[in-house]
Amino acid sequence: MGVKISPPSSLIETASQNDRCSYTSRSREEITPASYLLPHNLIVAVMAVTLRALLAFVTLLPRTPPGPGNHPHLSPTEKWENHMSDQLHAAVVEKFNDPLAIKDLDLPTPGPNQALVKLIASGVCHTDLHAAHGDWPVKPEPPFIPGHEGVGEIVELGPGEHSVNVGDLVGNAWIWSACGECEQCRKGWETLCPNAEYGGYTADGSFGTYMLVDTRYAPRIPEGADPVEVAPVLCAGVTVYKGLKVSETKPGQFVVISGVGGLGHVAVQYAVAMGMRVIAVDIADEKLELAKKHGAEFTVNAANTDPAEAVQEYTDGGAHGVLVTAVHPQAFGQAINMARRAGTIVFNGLPPGDFPAPIFDIVLKGLTIRGSLVGDRQDQVEALDFYARGLVKPTVKSCNLEDINDVLETMEQGKIDGRIAIKY
Ligand code: NAD
Ligand code: ZN
Ligand code: ZN
Repeated sequence: MGVKISPPSSLIETASQNDRCSYTSRSREEITPASYLLPHNLIVAVMAVTLRALLAFVTLLPRTPPGPGNHPHLSPTEKWENHMSDQLHAAVVEKFNDPLAIKDLDLPTPGPNQALVKLIASGVCHTDLHAAHGDWPVKPEPPFIPGHEGVGEIVELGPGEHSVNVGDLVGNAWIWSACGECEQCRKGWETLCPNAEYGGYTADGSFGTYMLVDTRYAPRIPEGADPVEVAPVLCAGVTVYKGLKVSETKPGQFVVISGVGGLGHVAVQYAVAMGMRVIAVDIADEKLELAKKHGAEFTVNAANTDPAEAVQEYTDGGAHGVLVTAVHPQAFGQAINMARRAGTIVFNGLPPGDFPAPIFDIVLKGLTIRGSLVGDRQDQVEALDFYARGLVKPTVKSCNLEDINDVLETMEQGKIDGRIAIKY
């Protein structure tokens, strides 16, 4: 784990942000002729005291909030010096299933190919909840900082050449880095690289005021993007966009989006923008309302209606594509019966567990079932471009880092409409 920060033992108190120091200076005109009569060593002493006061004032100035253009007059070196005394204020998974601990840690130092990013926002994905619970067979190692929908500004570059600069807005993503050398990477499937590092899982993520990124893999945030609004595109957006592509559903054909949470509500928008006819399935009416708002033409509440029957009837034979983003295994089994002959079912959702798969139906209908994991860097560029062109607009509410445990609990109860993003 090359990018793991040291265990969060270094709990250090941060200086009060409210510290202020008043400072007055005399203009050149205010200096009376009597000043010239002062002995030379007294003038030097006065100058030294003034200089010290000036320095003290500068260091006590309230920290500039992050964000593009907030410190337009600072050179890269000054920006770097500006964050030197900062701490990494982060939400840390110390033990699976425990509430995340809010800690102040030392800033990590960017190595070769890495940059230190000051965060502005980070989406909270259901994967972060799986990570905090240790839900999956391959587990992260606590302590770690979750989060892989982070958006922030580069404040320091590691040694070597980079294709980004200090001041650029970048994100982290699930594919934090890949090896670039293995068979999957060589074939253009970096998402399947067995040597990949995962943001907020094997590499510390964006639930903190700073994070490291690999500048070769960090998504570039389009100009004019709202950091809170664009954050969910970095995982939810790219994942469903890629999932829809590999569903091979054509414009004019039916696609089912099963699960209208963080992923699903943007999936509805991508599918509409890609010319598909969208059917949304969830177990909560509010989610289905959101799906309609984003362009779904038909919705089914699977809590009180058999979704397979309803979809078969509405589409006269089943949907051409089915994208499952739901967090219950039941939705995976139901998806198979929603598909049309020769249809493709894509699984994005990752709830722990299994589901029964009817062999006869799969063979006789010639169905394709495939898993799809996030997207590669080109998918990311395209997914962000849909956002930049106004074709996709995530529904996002912002929260504070300190609210993270409440947010994760609300997510577990299935009560979040769209996404929640931490705003720093
Ligand atoms: P979310 O909590 O925001 O949304 C989940 C949705 O599923 C909710 O709207 C919920 O009501 C719905 N749901 C629950 N049971 C259902 C059922 N039986 N039928 C239909 N809908 C049901 O979660 P999210 O952030 O959108 O993530 C969804 C899943 O996708 C998670 O398991 C996450 O780990 C996974 N994920 C996978 C990838 C990938 O690359 N494959 C990327 C990101 C997230
Ligand atoms: Zn995610
Ligand atoms: Zn590789």
